[in-house]
Amino acid sequence: MINKEPIPNKMKALVLNDISDLRFEEVKVPQIKKECVLLHVKCCGICSSDIDRIFKNGTYHFPTIPGHEFSGEIVGVYDKNDKHLLGKKASVFPLLPCNNCDACRIGEYAQCSHYNYFGSRCDGAFSEYLVVPKWNLVLFDTMDYDVAALCEPAAVALHATRRVKLAENKKVFVMGSGTIGLLIAMFARVQGSKVYIGARKKEAINYIKSLDFDYIDTNNFEEELKRKTNNQGFDYVFEAVGSNEAISNSILACNNFATVVLVGNPHENLQLEKNVYWKILRKQLTITGTWNSNYNNFINDWQDAINFMQQNYATFKSLITNTFKLEEYKEAFDFLRDKSTFKIKVMFQNEKE
Ligand SMILES: [Zn+2]
Ligand SMILES: [Zn+2]
Repeated sequence: MINKEPIPNKMKALVLNDISDLRFEEVKVPQIKKECVLLHVKCCGICSSDIDRIFKNGTYHFPTIPGHEFSGEIVGVYDKNDKHLLGKKASVFPLLPCNNCDACRIGEYAQCSHYNYFGSRCDGAFSEYLVVPKWNLVLFDTMDYDVAALCEPAAVALHATRRVKLAENKKVFVMGSGTIGLLIAMFARVQGSKVYIGARKKEAINYIKSLDFDYIDTNNFEEELKRKTNNQGFDYVFEAVGSNEAISNSILACNNFATVVLVGNPHENLQLEKNVYWKILRKQLTITGTWNSNYNNFINDWQDAINFMQQNYATFKSLITNTFKLEEYKEAFDFLRDKSTFKIKVMFQNEKE
C-alpha cells in the first residue's frame, strides 16, 4: 500500500455483536485490496434503517460494523498508478454489485441479485477506516465531510423523484418530514413542482416553513387536505414514512390519475381499509416503488445529487442537526430513539472538535 500518512494497526469502531449489542471496540484496520483505496472515514450518517438493524433486525451476520452513509479522505492506495487519489475527498456508493447478474449487466445495481453492502452485509463506516473499491468512490472537493455524507440519502431521494415525470405546475405532496422526505421535497421543487410536506410535530412544521415549503398538518389530515388543495388532491405523492396511516393518507391525498411513489420502509405488515383501496381503483392511481439509486454511466443519481448539494449548500448543511463522536454512541442512539426531541440528520463525526 502507498499511504499519505502513517496508518495505525488498530482503529475504533462500533461493532454490532448481536441485536441490541453494539459495542465501542478496538479492531484491526482492514487490509487494502487490489482496485481499492483506504478511506479515513470522517463522517457517517445514522439512517433509520441502522436503528432497525441495530435494535430489531440485526445485520446479515455478526459481528458487523454498521454505517452506509459516509464520506472521508483517501489515505492509502493499492497501486502506485492511483497515487493521484491520495488526499482526495470522497463519498461512497455503498453497494458492492456482483457484476454478473442480469441487473448488473445493464447497470441496474440496486436490483443486483448477489450484492454486498457496506454496513449491513459487510463492515461499514461506524469506524475510522474502511477499504473501498475505486469504482464506488464519488469524489468531491468543495463540500464539508458532513454534507458529503448526506450524499447517500440525497441520491436515494433524487432517484425517488425520477421514478415519475415531474413537470412544471404539478402539485406534489411528500408524506413525512424525515431526511428522505425533506430531500425529496427539495428535488421536486427544483424540478418545478409546487410542494407540500405532511408533518405532525410542531418543530417539524416550523422547520418546513423555514425552508419555504407549504405543509399539511397530519394531526388533522383530511380537513387540512380539503382546505389546502381546494378538495382536489395532488398529482404526485411520495410516501416517505412506511406506516399504515401514512400510506392510507398518501392515497387519500391523490387527485384523479395521480401517482403514488412508495419510498418509506415499512416496520410491520401493512393493511389498507377497503375505502382507501377503492380510491386506487376509482381514481385510476398509479402506484410505484423506488429502491436505492442509479449509479451508472447513463444515470448517476450520486453525481447529480452532489452537484445539486454544492449549489444549495446552506440548505443541506442545515439538515444536519446533531453530530456525535463514535464513543458517544449510547447518547446518540438514545437521542435518536427519543421521539420527543426534534432532529433531522444525526451523524457520527470522527475527530469532532
Ligand atoms: Zn440510509
Ligand atoms: Zn449483480
